Amino acid sequence: MRTLEDYRDIVGDDVIAEIYRLARPLYGKKVIHINSTYYGGGVAEILYSLVPLLNAAGIDADWRMLRGTPEFFNITKKFHNAIQGESIRMTDIKASLYLENNQEFASYCKIDADCVVIHDPQPLPLIRFYKKRQPWIWRCHVDLSHPNEDLWYFLKGFILAYDGIIVSDEQYVRKELPMKYTIIDPAIDPLSSKNKEIPEELIDRTLRKYGVPRDKPLITQISRFDKWKDPENVIEVYKLVRKECDCRLVLCGSMASDDPEGMEIFDKTRTAAGSLIDNNDVLLLTVEDNILVNALQSKSSVILQKSIREGFGLTVTEALWKGKPVVASNVGGIPRQVIDNKTGFLVEPYDIRGCAEIVISILKHPKVGQYLGANGKEHVRKNFLMTRHVIDDLKLLNKVLNEH
Ligand code: UDP
Repeated sequence: MRTLEDYRDIVGDDVIAEIYRLARPLYGKKVIHINSTYYGGGVAEILYSLVPLLNAAGIDADWRMLRGTPEFFNITKKFHNAIQGESIRMTDIKASLYLENNQEFASYCKIDADCVVIHDPQPLPLIRFYKKRQPWIWRCHVDLSHPNEDLWYFLKGFILAYDGIIVSDEQYVRKELPMKYTIIDPAIDPLSSKNKEIPEELIDRTLRKYGVPRDKPLITQISRFDKWKDPENVIEVYKLVRKECDCRLVLCGSMASDDPEGMEIFDKTRTAAGSLIDNNDVLLLTVEDNILVNALQSKSSVILQKSIREGFGLTVTEALWKGKPVVASNVGGIPRQVIDNKTGFLVEPYDIRGCAEIVISILKHPKVGQYLGANGKEHVRKNFLMTRHVIDDLKLLNKVLNEH
């Protein structure tokens, strides 16, 4: 079990003292977080560190997972896509399956907390199925700037019952909702197995275990196989890059239990890569292994995040923390992390050639990438480490619970 003390060398006395100061008025209070998967994706990643650290600070924090049927996750994936702007046919069947699954969960999940935090759209309707005895907050991790209007109208019916909303960026604030918004940047845990420095020997062993040769520079994108992460066009970028530089592409994406589209996108990516897979120039990995992610991020010459939409993009934070040159799309929360030509390189989401040119130039002039990578690490240290997230959560809890 990690304690707050373990973080002191990384973030300094003041940050740890601030956490204890903010936690003091909350001793004995209970907060429960509910999402819909324990692994695969940024929400699980955050909760996995945030909840234990809130407990370490002295408040009672709990994490539950909404279980769902495959049909339920098919529907919520469609919702997820439509929140990010895709069209959707809203039907009674979709609405009733969505509600029924939440109702069933509520029939066996008892909530006795002083504050409830619901993550993303999957468990959003739970609020309908409990007697509301405490503040409920909806924490939306998704890009809310262009939601499909039909879906948004439907979801608003649940959101309006909440006492507050947390989003990751100012641009996701929807003015028509009356409740208070709080902006909280996601964060990474510098001491997790994914982010801490690991010995060379372990890196070598892990890359060998998964068949990642080290004879050529590695370009890597770590992401679920999801159309918004644009893996097919990552392959197109790579095809241009390899004309100029001998290198290897790794796409690593575990399959999240609440993401039913993973297999389909994986197949499309494999088709796009074609024979590049046979001769080991493109590696597609679908395992869930934090040490593998750490090893790949630590040993790659370039990290790509070619998303079309991205609520925040923890993979970018993780790569910057490892001091790596990151080339990422200028969308969603990414520009908060990648400041173009200062902490990394931004590209427009559909600019395949532009993206390839930057990757080539990093491979040809590694010093520039290293310089930006070092800046990126400091940017993360100041803004996107989990201790800062704990502070933001405690500030919010103090506000919400004192107002009640
Ligand atoms: N991740 C992982 N293994 C994979 C793919 C992703 O552990 O094969 C992790 C990744 O390291 C990051 C999170 O899943 O911590 C993805 O978060 P992000 O915000 O980048 O995207 P999301 O999946 O939430 O859209």
